[in-house]
Amino acid sequence: MTTNAELIARKSAAVARGVGTRGIYATRAENAELWDADGRRFIDFAAGIAVNNTGHRHPKLMAAIAEQAQAFTHTCFHVAPYESYVALAERLNAATPGDFEKKTMLVTTGAEAVENAIKMARAYTGRSGIVAFSGAFHGRTLLGMALTGKVAPYKKGFGAMPPEIAHAPFPNPLHGVSEEEALRHLERIFASSVDPERVAAMIIEPVQGEGGFTIAPKGFLLKLREICDQYGIVMILDEVQAGMARTGRMFGCEHAGVVPDLITMAKGLAGGFPLSAVTGRADIVDAPNPGGVGGTYAGNPLAVAAAHAVLDVIEDENLCVRADEIGEKIRARLTTIAARQGMECIGEVRGLGAMNAFELVTDRATNAPDAPLTAAIVAEAEARGLILLSCGTRYNVIRLLPPLTIPMEQLDEALNIIEASIEAAVQAAA
Ligand code: PMP
Repeated sequence: MTTNAELIARKSAAVARGVGTRGIYATRAENAELWDADGRRFIDFAAGIAVNNTGHRHPKLMAAIAEQAQAFTHTCFHVAPYESYVALAERLNAATPGDFEKKTMLVTTGAEAVENAIKMARAYTGRSGIVAFSGAFHGRTLLGMALTGKVAPYKKGFGAMPPEIAHAPFPNPLHGVSEEEALRHLERIFASSVDPERVAAMIIEPVQGEGGFTIAPKGFLLKLREICDQYGIVMILDEVQAGMARTGRMFGCEHAGVVPDLITMAKGLAGGFPLSAVTGRADIVDAPNPGGVGGTYAGNPLAVAAAHAVLDVIEDENLCVRADEIGEKIRARLTTIAARQGMECIGEVRGLGAMNAFELVTDRATNAPDAPLTAAIVAEAEARGLILLSCGTRYNVIRLLPPLTIPMEQLDEALNIIEASIEAAVQAAA
């Protein structure tokens, strides 16, 4: 048997250094559990970064792709289209918020969905400016990284960014940016550097993912909606991480009751198959000329079959309700841990549905970040059989992304590991 250590060595010799990896080489996975090359068993609180919302290898998803594989696996939708793509567009048009005519296009990755949403907004408005937000993550393509509101490691060393992109502050009261201040800053950007009448799109995550699981306040999103309406700006909600039942609603923006013009989705959409989508106002989605958007693999039939199965499972197994149950349990337990003496390192526990995180600080009064402790907790949890992911612009947030199908006893097991890992990391740091 090849071990993790051997694979780590082969990876560093053969694979690009920029492709960051952990030392857990997967050999098999089932629902919320994953086994690695050393035969270790883990509970998976990464779920492929919010992708396996329906768990690893959900039987309905496996059956759907097996059935599709019997018919055909690729024709290219531009060459020989197929009904399942059209049917998925119909389902997404119906599932997304907004009581107006909608259309959908399918692509492959989150970054590609973002790129296409921007292309649609530019074609529709005839403008080129874009407003994004500090701490945002929108992908690693040239435009995706330009929209991303964090320099290192995403933009560093990659040269000039596309022009006419402004970053406004994302409200984060914990770090001293109030909602009002964020809005005032946006007004200043419009007054001093970007003419709002040249802005094609404003793009925002309902809950910042990589940025630290920071929830966009309801009032802020509604105010942005007003500003977009005032200036004729296309409002894009990037639901790549928050979407597909993760937050306890099908889409994160539903918590605020805000209706965007376009929604981008990926990750949880096809349960691990590369598929992303842009859904929104028909006239905006239709703005690019035929041939102006698309791609060879866009809307791959296996991925589309997987997406249909995911949507069925979300419905059949009430995964939005389950996400809330999971989230309540996680937040209650973390809040209890944070209240214990010696646990002052937990600066905040936050989340929506099953998109939860806790922030590690050296001092609760100043909320100064504790990145080393964060890394130590992730390592302790890994040693105890739990895969955790950190995030946050200051590297001090641990995000919890279990599959929404996780059995409750495994959720308890994972929460016990989290408590033990924090204790061990705090003790080691003392
Ligand atoms: N947008 C958001 C909100 C994301 O979280 C991500 C991925 N972390 C992306 C876009 C990019 O998705 P992908 O990695 O599939 O290109």
